[in-house]
Amino acid sequence: MRFGLDIGGTKIEIVAFDPEGERVYSKRISTPDNYPAFVTAVCGLVNGAEDTLHCQGSVGIGIPGTICTQTGLVKNANCTFINGHNLKNDLQRRLERDVFIANDANCFALSEAVDGAGKDGQVVFGVILGTGCGGGLVVNKQVLAGPNGIAGEWGHNPLPGYRESADGQEQQCYCGKRNCIERYISGSGLEMQYLQRFGEALKAADIIAGMQTGEMSCRLAYYQLVDQIARSFATIINMVDPDVIVIGGGLSNVASLFDDIPKQLTRFVMSNECRTKILPAQYGDSSGVRGAAWLPLS
Ligand SMILES: [Zn+2]
Repeated sequence: MRFGLDIGGTKIEIVAFDPEGERVYSKRISTPDNYPAFVTAVCGLVNGAEDTLHCQGSVGIGIPGTICTQTGLVKNANCTFINGHNLKNDLQRRLERDVFIANDANCFALSEAVDGAGKDGQVVFGVILGTGCGGGLVVNKQVLAGPNGIAGEWGHNPLPGYRESADGQEQQCYCGKRNCIERYISGSGLEMQYLQRFGEALKAADIIAGMQTGEMSCRLAYYQLVDQIARSFATIINMVDPDVIVIGGGLSNVASLFDDIPKQLTRFVMSNECRTKILPAQYGDSSGVRGAAWLPLS
């Protein structure tokens, strides 16, 4: 049995997968607000699953942060109480087995690269376009982490080709840098740009719905988003030239993106043609927890 856990700011989910990759058990709890309670809760989820299923399993965990390769301590997590702790050691001691931990966007990319939308690709870049925009790079079915543990964090590069007249005012990012890609090509980025440009607060889902019914302001905001995504994807393609870019998160439900982004890519990549496949995630919201379960194998 393989257990995958997805740690979020509000919920922790555990899913058990049988040897064929079928989901056989799942449970969700609220994320505790302090570290000792968090470790106890994670161990409780694993032990509870094993009691129910009457078998032991491997444990992989996706976290909204990363592990410092020098110290083994969690860093950059948005549930901040796990930062600065050696989560891997603490869980291994309590669960009496190896525990595998990776960034949640890396888990998403791994899931889609192993047997999802990118399964036929050697190099797969996974991006989650949701509230924010995470990324992960998988080569030959293995997550590329890097010495800083930040491979795939392309969302915190500056938006390529930024012009105030087209992209609006410069944006401060929570990471401390300015004009990060994430501030633009995410659900929250789309909402911010719509508000700045048209003076009206609309939810991303409403902007997309308006685009689909032909409302001009929504169409303008959508095509500006497509242009920004194409510029940002072109930097990935020029750098690593992946076989596939798989998109997950809320924006991956917008089917027209998968026609509109490829049409724009050739304007920005260093090639007169662009064969990179841009595909929606095969496993949707379950990809992160699936990839976490696959970590012990990667
Ligand atoms: Zn940033």
